[in-house]
Amino acid sequence: MDYADMLLLRFGEFTLKGKNRARFEKTVLRHVKEMTKPYPKVVLTKEFGRIYVELNGEPAVDLVEALKNVFGIASVSPVKVAKSDLEDIVAVSRQFLEIIAPAPGTTFKVNARRVWKGFPYGSMEMNKLVSTPLLQGYSGLTVDVKSPQLELRVEIRQGHTYIFCENITGVGGFPLGTNGKAMLLLSGGIDSPVAGWSSMRRGLEVECVHFYSYPYTSELARQKVVDLTRVLSRYAGVIKLHLVPFTEVQTSFTGIGQDNLIITLMRRAMLRITTQLAEREGALAIVTGESLGQVASQTLPSMNVIGRATDLPLLRPLVMMDKSDIVELSKNIGTYELSILPYEDCCTLFVPKSPTTNPNLRIVDKIEATLPSYSALLDAAIEATETVLITPYGDEKPREVVSAQAGLQEEWF
Ligand code: ATP
Ligand code: MG
Repeated sequence: MDYADMLLLRFGEFTLKGKNRARFEKTVLRHVKEMTKPYPKVVLTKEFGRIYVELNGEPAVDLVEALKNVFGIASVSPVKVAKSDLEDIVAVSRQFLEIIAPAPGTTFKVNARRVWKGFPYGSMEMNKLVSTPLLQGYSGLTVDVKSPQLELRVEIRQGHTYIFCENITGVGGFPLGTNGKAMLLLSGGIDSPVAGWSSMRRGLEVECVHFYSYPYTSELARQKVVDLTRVLSRYAGVIKLHLVPFTEVQTSFTGIGQDNLIITLMRRAMLRITTQLAEREGALAIVTGESLGQVASQTLPSMNVIGRATDLPLLRPLVMMDKSDIVELSKNIGTYELSILPYEDCCTLFVPKSPTTNPNLRIVDKIEATLPSYSALLDAAIEATETVLITPYGDEKPREVVSAQAGLQEEWF
């Protein structure tokens, strides 16, 4: 696609949403601007239902890779630009064919569309006027108007004509942040980063909350979460990460003689703290990476008892997904290699031999009510929470393995 002079970005499903449309399109444009910052020669123009990205020599391949991941973009076409003048249109179409060099026998059609009514030839006429000289020059092409392998689209507008044949599928979804804000419970595992990405794709702005139990969990485990957030920030531009010291809260649960309930108690404490952070930050939901039945704390009775610790809606984007599909997604979004690094999570450290799959709400409530200074412990954890802004090109130094696995990352920004 290095032939391209320009990329044509088309908006996705949200265009259906009447009066929100202008706001949504503006949000996508802002996101595209953010993603094209490292390419100073790029010029952006927004039109009804689409964005034009003039490349001016910037690399098409890299920009397509970055921009097809902007939420709200349905498709991307690399475009060659001609003057809106018959001779130039034919000449540029010919160049285009020479560059993409279709194999002999390729079936082909020209699909012209006259958007600018001042152009002297109609769409049907243009199909002929462009395809005839191309077919003469390329004996290998045969015409198939129903389902050609190569469809050369010629869009005639005032001033310029756009010639393209590729339609690369974009990530779609809703523009970033247009559906409000949620707090994402981010562990170092495979699932929660995927849950975060899925939420962002639905138009949620996400702030990450991570609980760590230093010195039981290492500095590396914490850095891993910073690195994961950085990968997520590629899709958002910037993400807030709240790092909550959880050691005191966690150790308050040990020694009460109910080891099989420790995970339940820990999860509820996480939700309580996150609810307060959500209030402070103006978020209206909590997102987790839970998937039904995956582990003891993710059975329906467990989810029920854990979920009652918050009044906020608990969003579980992965709840019905198979692990293999989650893994596939995490590979696609670039978090998998980080997620499988073997650093301990605060929860795995204190995992009892047989965590309950069926906790009793009354007992759990009672334990929490009788824990000495339980709410003071939670408040202290919030008080000591550290908040960091993470960007794709931020200050926190990613460890070697990150830059090695994500050559991608370097290319994108
Ligand atoms: P993940 O792969 O996201 O860690 P998991 O299948 O390992 O998920 P659990 O470890 O039981 O499941 O965690 C369930 C959910 O609880 C996670 O998806 C995450 O949203 C949240 N969570 C777990 N540990 C932490 C933590 N240390 N900090 C913040 N959230 C956490
Ligand atoms: Mg986990």
